Amino acid sequence: MYRLPEHLERALTSAATIVTADPRQAFAVRLAWNEQHHSLGHVVWPSPDVLPLSTWLARMWARAASGDEPAEHATLLTTAQERTLWEQVVEDSGGIRDLLHPHGAARAALNTWQRIHQWAIDHRALEPVATEETRAFLSWAGQAIERMRDHRCIDPTRALWRCPLAGTTVEGSEFVLLGFDCEPPSLSELRARLTARGLQARGAPGREPQAAGAKLRLANAEAEVHAAARWARRRLERNPDDRLLIVIPDLTQRRGYVDYVLADVLDPASLLASSTRSGRIFALETGETLDRYAIVATALTALELAVGYLAFDTVSHWLRSPYLLAGVSAAGPRAQLDIAMRRFAAEELDLRELSTVLRRTDHAGEKDPLIEALGRFAEKLSTGPRTPAEWTVAFSDALKLIGWPGERPLDSVEHQTVEKFHGTLREFATLERLLGRLEPAAAVRALRRLMEQTAFQPETGDTAVTVTARLAAPVLNFDGIWVSGLHAGAWPETPYPDPFVPWQLQVAAGIPEASAAGMLERGRRILASWLASSQEVILSWPRRLDDEDCDPSPLIVALPDAVEQLLLPSSRPYAHVIHESAQLERVADGPAPSLALAAGHVADARALVLQSLCPFRAFAEKRLGARVVEQPQPGIDARTRGQFLHRVLEQLGNALEDSGKLHRYSLEERGAALDAALRAARNEVFERAHRWSRATIDLETERLRGLLRTWLEIEAARAPFRILAVEHEIDCAIAGVPFSLRIDRIDELADGRRLLIDFKSGRASARRWYGDRPDDPQMPLYAVAVATPPAALAYALLNADGCRFEGVSAAPAVAMGIAVVGDWPAQLRDWRGAIERLAADFAGGYAQVDPKRDACSNCHLHSLCRIDELRVRATAVTDDE
Ligand code: SF4
Repeated sequence: MYRLPEHLERALTSAATIVTADPRQAFAVRLAWNEQHHSLGHVVWPSPDVLPLSTWLARMWARAASGDEPAEHATLLTTAQERTLWEQVVEDSGGIRDLLHPHGAARAALNTWQRIHQWAIDHRALEPVATEETRAFLSWAGQAIERMRDHRCIDPTRALWRCPLAGTTVEGSEFVLLGFDCEPPSLSELRARLTARGLQARGAPGREPQAAGAKLRLANAEAEVHAAARWARRRLERNPDDRLLIVIPDLTQRRGYVDYVLADVLDPASLLASSTRSGRIFALETGETLDRYAIVATALTALELAVGYLAFDTVSHWLRSPYLLAGVSAAGPRAQLDIAMRRFAAEELDLRELSTVLRRTDHAGEKDPLIEALGRFAEKLSTGPRTPAEWTVAFSDALKLIGWPGERPLDSVEHQTVEKFHGTLREFATLERLLGRLEPAAAVRALRRLMEQTAFQPETGDTAVTVTARLAAPVLNFDGIWVSGLHAGAWPETPYPDPFVPWQLQVAAGIPEASAAGMLERGRRILASWLASSQEVILSWPRRLDDEDCDPSPLIVALPDAVEQLLLPSSRPYAHVIHESAQLERVADGPAPSLALAAGHVADARALVLQSLCPFRAFAEKRLGARVVEQPQPGIDARTRGQFLHRVLEQLGNALEDSGKLHRYSLEERGAALDAALRAARNEVFERAHRWSRATIDLETERLRGLLRTWLEIEAARAPFRILAVEHEIDCAIAGVPFSLRIDRIDELADGRRLLIDFKSGRASARRWYGDRPDDPQMPLYAVAVATPPAALAYALLNADGCRFEGVSAAPAVAMGIAVVGDWPAQLRDWRGAIERLAADFAGGYAQVDPKRDACSNCHLHSLCRIDELRVRATAVTDDE
């Protein structure tokens, strides 16, 4: 159970108003108060008046607006409104083109505005010492003031100075400012005004230390996280009611790692796939923004898809989200839909194109309900411009149409996230006066920005361990506190003066962030607050960080060392425990079932290519169907380019008939034949492919036209030939394996013998045809498969390197690039032997993990064949030997 510090308990008991620096602190205090009453067996108790400063200010402002003491300005800007106003000011300013990141500049300018008003720096005092940056800020500030005047509104920081206090509280009652690292003049003034009205207004009192604190050096930052987790575990094993605080300053950057280690040590069951986040015994306070939550990301991606193009990967991920219509019940078919649509989809899609691709893909008769819903969703968002309030309604209605936030009951975190999303959407509606009417894309962009700027931490209730990134004074007492990362380079924190305000003015105003002295003082205050908030405080630092040795922070160097016994029994990762507890089962790695059992299986050339490269890969791809999931690429993919080339060459082969006809053609006739072939092939290959623009296809056609002109020159320079067949299909059996093959072209040479040609749009080499396990047995296979043994085999290479033949023949002068082999019949015998062995291995189920050199570098099956584990084991055995 959380414990309230004594002063806070007293204040709450006397019905004080507690105003905290942020909402999380207010929540923690309310939670501790409620739990305290609950543990005492109370059934009802007074609700505490605990709220963050921003909410308290809005309350006072609203009270005054409806009471006798009207506010000086009609409207108090919300955080979102204030940020939007500054973004607009910066966007509308003349120098916008020079800014790389206008919204970042707006954020920085707004921070400055808030800081100078909190610290009572008159912005006119900046003018005489203005740098270029300061002048930019002053110009933006002038415009912001003007706009606020025009809209009759005021920003929260200035409003605090003028906060109407009528009817605040009963005279003599308490008002406590809690969780503020220091008290700037704006808060001192507020306290003074409240005191003048007869209230006891005060900050949190300084407290006596409960602990001396102990410092601890650990090997590195990872070791610190592990040690803190094990410390927490030991504490909780001794007393499950302990409430612990772990501070990890770079938690946001290391969130995944910290989450995993804490779950592994404190709550291993939560790592199981069936576990939900609810009920975990630790909570991470990471300051995540709303857009980073998966459920919100699904909604935002849907809206963005309706108004523009998104990368295929984003769309694919979105399509499989459980937060969409039938997202859980149709998860399987939808994943298959995702795989299938990769054949048609471009590397970027908008909603219209996605719907087209999905309709084309999902022809199995079981239409996915989401496909129909997407049409209505798009319609809902298609008109503009509209005001933010109108867009708020349209966005909500549209999201309902696609079933957001999904069909399964939401857990607590998801439920809170959806609530926050709707709250932020309502906030978006209030930007009407600032943003005016927006086109659909601008509205979605503005909404995303708002979500990106909205920090959100779901409330997790009473968790045993709170993990935070904040180097700040805790508002509650803890049973133990561990602060990590306290090396000399990190703490006290480096000053970060405001870039828009002259440094001397900041120091003179007493802004802690402006100077090393200010940060040192703040560090001391925070250290004192940790020591006052718990009886056990451990302050650790890493010995090495980024290859550099680290010293402890000067603030902790004088503390005693933590006793060694503190360092708990070593804890082994849960994954190791499971692995080590496994009962190993021996499985004989014999051959796979023979092909004879796979009725109707017909092999192709690729089966033998794979069998030669790695028998397991041939088995996995050709018999288990373990294919790589396609990934839409920019431009036309290699497979389609190859298909286009083959279709054009097929048309040309049919038109040319023999080399005599090629010689008889005039240049114009040759060009016309080429044009006709390109046209026919283009219609065939790209007719139904909507994924490429006409310009992209034109570009590919022109590229091919250039290559084929050169190719026809090469063909014309050859010795006489006749084209016997193009795309010639062969059904045959080798070593009992039925094969279905297609040879690109068979030419008859002047002496009546035959040349087999395979066209390649990529790189290939005849040097890969030799040996017991040729790297590429495709052409040897053709040589073995045809009824009439060939006199020559050749690749016809048409690629970025140019055009040429590469091959071998029994006789000279077949074509440039085709070399003569001395003993052609012996070569044919060698090939037959190699091909028959490979075919027999394939048929017999020989599926050893036995890759040729470099075969794995181009293979997608590492996780299936576990070659990496085998290699590790082989290395270990060698080392032992
Ligand atoms: S990764 Fe290597 S060993 Fe595994 S299937 Fe592919 S080629 Fe064979």
